[in-house]
Amino acid sequence: MNDPDAAPGGPVTPGLRERLAVVRGRIIEAAASAGRDPGEITTIVVTKFHPVSLIEELAELGVRDMGENRHQEAQAKAAALDSLGLTWHFVGQVQGKKARQVRTYAQVIHSVDRPSLVDALQSGESTVDCFVQVNLTDDPARGGVRPRELDALVERVLATEGLRLLGVMAVAPVGAEPRRAFARVRELGEQARLAAPGAKYLSMGMSQDFPDAISEGATHLRIGTAITGNRPVLG
Ligand SMILES: *Cc1c(COP(=O)(O)O)cnc(C)c1O
Repeated sequence: MNDPDAAPGGPVTPGLRERLAVVRGRIIEAAASAGRDPGEITTIVVTKFHPVSLIEELAELGVRDMGENRHQEAQAKAAALDSLGLTWHFVGQVQGKKARQVRTYAQVIHSVDRPSLVDALQSGESTVDCFVQVNLTDDPARGGVRPRELDALVERVLATEGLRLLGVMAVAPVGAEPRRAFARVRELGEQARLAAPGAKYLSMGMSQDFPDAISEGATHLRIGTAITGNRPVLG
């Protein structure tokens, strides 16, 4: 009844505040050892599978950037929390036929990975920020464009109305040394900037590897479980 941690209006996710504080501390530490300003790093809390109430708690704790990877879930959450003015980042694969809908609630799309999706996202009415996702594995199911197709995809984004290219996004391959993978993403980002000088941001770094991503220049971290705790299994 008198839980001093209780947020107004709802029960508190055990340990959420503490985990957020720990991650924020580690971000500051990793930035300091890389000689970087932590203020240039955006932390997106990936809230997929978690209820709206957890996102409200995060907002109370000062988090503004939320990440989701499934369209229907993201759309419903963004609608339910519209009044909070949060920034929604779509980090999952986008189906072509859902692309226009994703644009309506997501301010940033991190997973632009093929020419047909670029075309589907075209708009003469508004501009959405996006990253081109690069696949660092040989498995096409992982999502992302192959590095050798990056330049062509960047050109296509630049030629498409309604898209503003922020930079390159990637997931470190399972079993690979993350620091080396992120160094490769940094190089690919530099390559993209030759054609798109404004595309200076790097979306990389998750719960298990974000300090390495910061060392290699990450500007947008996508952190889930290290902050939220384990994801519930949806029935
Ligand atoms: C789920 C997800 C994350 C967060 O993963 P954690 O390991 O929970 O930090 C980041 N990026 C993408 C693309 C994801 O799907």
